[in-house]
Amino acid sequence: MERRITDALRALVGADGVLTAPESLRPYEADALNAYRARPGVVVLPETAEQVQAVVRLCHRERLPFVARGSGTGLSGGAVPVADGVLISLARMNRILAVDLDNGRVVVQPGVINLEVSRRVAGAGLFYAPDPSSQQVCTIGGNVAENSGGAHCLKYGFTVNHVLGVKLVLPDGELVTLGGATLQHPGYDLLGVVVGAEGTLGVVVEATLRLLRLPEAIQLVMAAFATTDEAGAAVSAIIAAGILPAAVEMMDHLAIVATDDAVHAGYPRDAGALLLVELDGAPVEVAGEVDEVAALCRAHGASEVRVAATAEERARFWKGRKAALPAMGRLSPAYYVQDGVVPRTALPAVLRQIAALAAEAGLRVANVFHAGDGNLHPLVLFDPAVPGESERAIELAGRILLACIEAGGSITGEHGVGLDKKAYLPKMFAEADLDTMGRLRCAFDPINLSNPGKVFPTPRLCGERPGPYRPHPLVEAGLAELF
Ligand SMILES: Cc1cc2nc3c(=O)[nH]c(=O)nc-3n(C[C@H](O)[C@H](O)[C@H](O)COP(=O)(O)OP(=O)(O)OC[C@H]3O[C@@H](n4cnc5c(N)ncnc54)[C@H](O)[C@@H]3O)c2cc1C
Repeated sequence: MERRITDALRALVGADGVLTAPESLRPYEADALNAYRARPGVVVLPETAEQVQAVVRLCHRERLPFVARGSGTGLSGGAVPVADGVLISLARMNRILAVDLDNGRVVVQPGVINLEVSRRVAGAGLFYAPDPSSQQVCTIGGNVAENSGGAHCLKYGFTVNHVLGVKLVLPDGELVTLGGATLQHPGYDLLGVVVGAEGTLGVVVEATLRLLRLPEAIQLVMAAFATTDEAGAAVSAIIAAGILPAAVEMMDHLAIVATDDAVHAGYPRDAGALLLVELDGAPVEVAGEVDEVAALCRAHGASEVRVAATAEERARFWKGRKAALPAMGRLSPAYYVQDGVVPRTALPAVLRQIAALAAEAGLRVANVFHAGDGNLHPLVLFDPAVPGESERAIELAGRILLACIEAGGSITGEHGVGLDKKAYLPKMFAEADLDTMGRLRCAFDPINLSNPGKVFPTPRLCGERPGPYRPHPLVEAGLAELF
């Protein structure tokens, strides 16, 4: 990165807010996916929205691509920097700016950690519903960009359902407000467009979030089945009975054993599949639903059904589920977290297909996922030291995505497209769809500076390609318009 630029950045955010030494840039090279790496030219750590604006204005003037980063827990390579570009870390913008208990709202800076929001308002009997398993670390800015989900999104909805408004620094440095403190806004739903845009439309510098009242009663049912087929059928039966659990999580045999070894959650280790069904609401209602869920699980072949007797036991059952990804290290030197979604009723068939694809590839796949949403996380286990195994793992993960699409689902349930899955976007969308999305992106970012090269598979109209701006050949030939 040119000295002139780093000096200008220092003038904007202060010397300690600009990192250029190779050893301080290294932690920013990848997100939690790790498969993709790039060294940014500079990392900038602004502390205010005005500083973000100033940094982005500079990038715009100098035609420098920039990438926003929260905690880097993303699993699709979304926060991987553009090589030699600018990485804007929002880690220092971690203040809760306002708490409005009467209206059930908080206003936060983007670097606030997800769990901190619920912690801050728990005393008033409120919580922030979207709860990614990474909630102790990930930021609200990252959640907004990925439209993150979590175990309780079955009942409560994804991030998009809980963000009332954002302040966004557009790729030319202008600050705009989308949505706000009220529930309804006239005009196009631009807030809905920005949530889930994976940082391609600008940098979120503030978010107004909706809070909910903590449920009066919570109960957790754990049910063990011989097969994922039976567990899947039980999930469909529970929902068909008109019960909307707060969460329905499923683990297969490999995941059960690995997590139980890791955190001693007390799971039945010989089970082929395990369901965790959480019910919340008014005590009378919850008590009735617990009985009904237990009966439905038994009717669908559950060999064991346990209702967590205490809050501690409930926490222990959850601990196993939340530890599932790190626990995979016990089974394999490496694993690849896939993320797809299918209609809930297609789960048993797709799980069988995944098992068949894994056998064909000669690899093991563990499954741990938000079953109520039809949201799958097949964990493809592989050993990078075995020649060809990494390649087979990536191919298998791709074939699983295609199976999700064939089943009427999508290539991402909650982790986003990022770098990792952009090649699969044309499998879901027609050229015309991609062009429409490209045009929308161009309306926000005509010179392709904000997180370029992510989400979309190929350079689209308006000169979209990673790196500094170059006119698109179609534009130069007068065949397409830059707007
Ligand atoms: C163990 C583990 C469990 C996980 N469980 C879940 C889960 O249950 N559900 C789920 O949905 N995800 C889950 N994730 C994925 C990840 O935690 C989420 O995608 C999370 O929202 C990322 O937040 P972050 O702050 O780490 O963002 P980063 O990884 O830093 O960035 C993610 C994306 O957001 C963009 N971005 C970040 N901040 C901003 C901003 N202020 N403005 C604009 N764009 C921005 C980045 O450019 C990037 O594209 C999990 C990850 C791990 C490692």
